[in-house]
Formats: sequence, structure tokens, C-alpha cells
Amino acid sequence: MAGKLLLDDLKQAAKTGEIDTVLAVMVDMQGRLMGKRFQIEFFLDSAVEETHSCNYLLATDMEMNTVEGYKSTSWEAGYGDYAMRPDLSTLRRIPWLEGTALVICDVVDHHSGADISHSPRAILKKQIARLEALGMKAMMASELEFFLFKESYEEAQEQGHRYLSPISAYNEDYHIFQTSKEEGVMRAIRTGLQGADIPVENSKGEADAGQAEINVRYTDALTMADRHSIIKNGCKEIAWAKGRAISFMAKWKSDAAGSSSHIHQSLWSLDGEPLFFDKGAKYGMSDMMRHYVAGLLKHAGEITLFLAPNINSYKRFVAGTFAPTKAIWSMDNRTAGYRVCGADSKAVRIECRVGGADLNPYLAMSALLAAGIDGIENKLELETEFVGDAYGGKDAREIPTTLRDATTALDGSKMLREALGEDVVDHYVHAARHEQSEYDSRVTDWEVSRGFERS
Ligand code: ADP
Repeated sequence: MAGKLLLDDLKQAAKTGEIDTVLAVMVDMQGRLMGKRFQIEFFLDSAVEETHSCNYLLATDMEMNTVEGYKSTSWEAGYGDYAMRPDLSTLRRIPWLEGTALVICDVVDHHSGADISHSPRAILKKQIARLEALGMKAMMASELEFFLFKESYEEAQEQGHRYLSPISAYNEDYHIFQTSKEEGVMRAIRTGLQGADIPVENSKGEADAGQAEINVRYTDALTMADRHSIIKNGCKEIAWAKGRAISFMAKWKSDAAGSSSHIHQSLWSLDGEPLFFDKGAKYGMSDMMRHYVAGLLKHAGEITLFLAPNINSYKRFVAGTFAPTKAIWSMDNRTAGYRVCGADSKAVRIECRVGGADLNPYLAMSALLAAGIDGIENKLELETEFVGDAYGGKDAREIPTTLRDATTALDGSKMLREALGEDVVDHYVHAARHEQSEYDSRVTDWEVSRGFERS
């Protein structure tokens, strides 16, 4: 596929001068690409085997603060290095950056070479290995929504992120004319990603002014999570180069739609048989699929933090906005947290609609897989399908409405503690509590405009 590079291709491109820079990156807790830009000669000489980064990269927040209280690292422990080992199967061209290739690295212990257990990529690899031991693999697709703004990131910052102008003046859901006006950015995103070994299905206008979605082809979970991280970074880089800004906040404005990252999931045998499909069963849903979905629902509260990791994520869960509020399953129903798609076909799958565009794909997919595997291992029975408008669903299971509730649910999750490891759950609970306390200590503009004169 266009853009994929073998090591020999990279060596050749170094000789011809076609590529001069290699980005060696890891993925942090927020799902961002972090790393270094290597001169290709040095990359091929040395970093192709291993490079290093400060271990605070997996113990920091959005602002890159050194957050106290992590077991994995601290001032006391001296904030040493992790080793970053390039996974050469992820080596690719980045067409929108001149002369540049990119490789994703695993984060491992400097001395033992063992995976760092709380590294997002290691967490996902562990769940994939569990599935493999059961003779299965997960196929996934994440659909990213975002807002495109007329301003550049610099202008948005200078304006204090106020008075921003979405690229369009009206709801552009499925609109062709309006999205034609955005092709300067969107075509560059589609063709850029396609040239970076990411098969694009389509882009489309979404359900608010300035909102868009990018859809890519489903693939195995690890490849999808890697692609998701590169897509987000790439969309921002391409928009920036065109003097525009893109935001993946779950909710950038209280009266605007939220941006989601729906995750489509299906399980396949290792030799490529779709295990979610049973021709004779209702909707074509196999027992395996029913158990998997039952696991997702049983643990829906516990896994929410990994689908909605920020304070802002919870502002998206508003009735009547296409973002879900209830963790129930339903057939082709966009009011449901868990929607069955592709009924009666080999493509039958479950779409989790809970996650926002701010999720970390490795963590979200890991939590979903862990819950689904629990459903399969314990042969959990799937509850009756919800029919109708889930927003008004009485007695329907609620999605936690605050970061605080989701953190408590994760902290108390026996299933996730067993599946991911005690240290991993403790690490992300600590991160969430830090996010909460950072927020709690801030005076917001809402409070000031409400109370400044009138309180
Ligand atoms: P929607 O109407 O929800 O947009 P699409 O047909 O466009 O549905 O598919 C949405 C996503 O689901 C795409 O990214 C597609 O690659 C993915 N997808 C299709 N089949 C499967 C499958 N069997 N497992 C996981 N994802 C799949």
C-alpha cells in the first residue's frame, strides 16, 4: 500500500535524498505522538534499534506537568529514561511533511527490555495476546469527528480560544456543496493519509457548523490504534499548514455538537472467519457476539474512563445530540451507546458510540476488548434489545455523567484490574484524579460572567 516503507526502502530513500528525516514516536497517555525528529543517517545508524525518552512522558498531563504521586516515576526516582524500540512494521512516509518518514516505537524498560506496563501500546498488545490465546483477533475501525476552524492555531491562541469561527456557517451533515468549500483541507487530509499507509474510506460533513468526519478502513486493533494516532496528528499538521485549526475536543462549545470517536468492533478467527456472524441467528449475531456485547454492557461503567478521559468528555453526553447517554444495545439505533451494524451479513459488528474524539485509542480498545473477553469467557447472556429512543429510556443503564463517577467505577473494577493489571489501573486512576483536581482548582469564565456583578 502507498506509503508503507520497508527498512530497505528507507535505506534507498536515504541514498537518493528522497527522505532526510525520520520521526521516531511513542504514544503518550493522552494519545499524542511524542518523540524526536532524526536525521535519517543517524536513525539508520543507531535509532533504528533503540532511542530514549524521559519517563515522565507516561506520567504527565495535557500541559506536560510533572504530576506527583505516580509509582512509576518521580523527582525522587530522578525521572530517568525509557527505551523506545521502533516497530518497523509501522514505518511509513508522511507525505504532508517534506522528506519525512515516521515509525511508532514500543516503550520498554531501559535495562530488561520488558514492555512498560502502563504504556498505551503495551496495554493494547496484552489484550490482543489474550484474544490470540483464545484463537481470535479483533478487527476495529474508529471514526474520528472534529471541528475545522477558519483561524489558525496561533490566531485561536491569540484570541484566547474565544470568538472562533467554524469553517462553515451551518450544519453540514452529508452536505456536498459546503464540504466542497472545505476541500482545500479535507482533500489534503484524505490523500495525505492514503499516502501514509492509511486506507481512507471517505470524509463527510457532520452534524454541526464546521464539523467533519474521517472514515478509514477497518483493520486489526493495534494497526487501527496506530493509524488513529497518526490521523489525529496528521489532521492537525495539515490544517496548520493551511492556516486553519482542527479540534478533537469532545465538546468545544456548550451549544455545539460533540465530536465522537465511534469504535466498530468484530472478532475473527486467526484464519479470517468472522466469528460474530451466524447466518441462522437473529440479526446474524452469533453466540460469540452476544457474549461479547453482554461483556461490554456489564462493564460499561467501569470502562467509561477510557472512552471519556477528560473533564470535557462528559459535556458531550447530552440527550438529543447523537451522543449517547445510555449504555444499552440496539439494532441500527443512533440513540444507543452500543449499536449493532451490518445485521445479517459477515460485516455484523458492534459500534461503541460512547467515546469522544479525545479518547486514547489504545486504552479505549483495550478496555472494550477486556470487557468483551470477560463476556466470552463467562458466557454472559445478552439482555433484551432496547428499542426506541434510548435518551428517554426509563431504567436504561446510564453512562457515568462525570469524570469523578467514571474514575470511581474504574478504581473498583475487578475485571479491569485482572485484565490490565493492578499497576495499570492505579496509574490511570491517578491520572484521572489529577485531571479532576486541576479542574476543581480553576475559576472558569462561566463562574466569572455569572457572578462577577451579580453575586
Ligand atoms: P456507518 O454507517 O456507521 O458510517 P460504515 O459502513 O461507513 O458505517 O462503516 C463504518 C466503519 O466500520 C468503517 O470504518 C468500516 O471500515 C468499519 N467496518 C466495516 N466492517 C467492519 C467489521 N466487520 N468490523 C469492524 N469494523 C468494520
